Amino acid sequence: MSRAVVALGANLGDRGSTLRAAASAIAALPGVRPVASSREVESIAVTLDGPDTTKPRYRNAVVVVDTELEPQQLLDALHGIEDANGRTREVRWGDRTLDLDLVAFDDVSLDTETLTVPHPRAGERAFVLAPWLDADPDAVLPGAGPVADLLAALGDDTERVDEPRLFDEPTRASRPATATADRTQART
Ligand code: AMP
Repeated sequence: MSRAVVALGANLGDRGSTLRAAASAIAALPGVRPVASSREVESIAVTLDGPDTTKPRYRNAVVVVDTELEPQQLLDALHGIEDANGRTREVRWGDRTLDLDLVAFDDVSLDTETLTVPHPRAGERAFVLAPWLDADPDAVLPGAGPVADLLAALGDDTERVDEPRLFDEPTRASRPATATADRTQART
């Protein structure tokens, strides 16, 4: 069993409903068990040319899951969920109804043609770090450090959306409180 962190983003359509539907679909994948989820944050769209205030704003969130899948199997399943939500891929970094990124997978470090883990830009993105910290206050980005420290250094330019977490509260409450700490200690 591995622990995976997935970042969700949307800037077209009913963004909140899309993120909630995607989180439910992730939790319902065979071999996947929900562990924790964030509330949503909102931020300015970032394109290849930088931040763009003329584009629809993004809603982002993070879910943490336990999974029996391999990293590429999980990414393939995430792509299936993107496709089911009308995701089109014509423009890299363009507007999208749903974007799902595999941020981290245990302490695995992977770089293939189709998958880089940890996600190479996760540590530079407040819209990933802020909801990740919200879902897991003890989160650590493998190879980079505690998410709380990374976010403090970067500055948090996201706005919290006043909505419930993406997973139901009972799921979050059932999470072993010391799981991350235990795993960190086991490595050192
Ligand atoms: P994007 O348009 O930003 O969603 O990029 C999607 C492409 O990035 C896909 O072809 C993926 O195979 C690739 N990719 C590489 N690493 C990751 C990752 N950690 N999470 C999601 N997509 C990834």
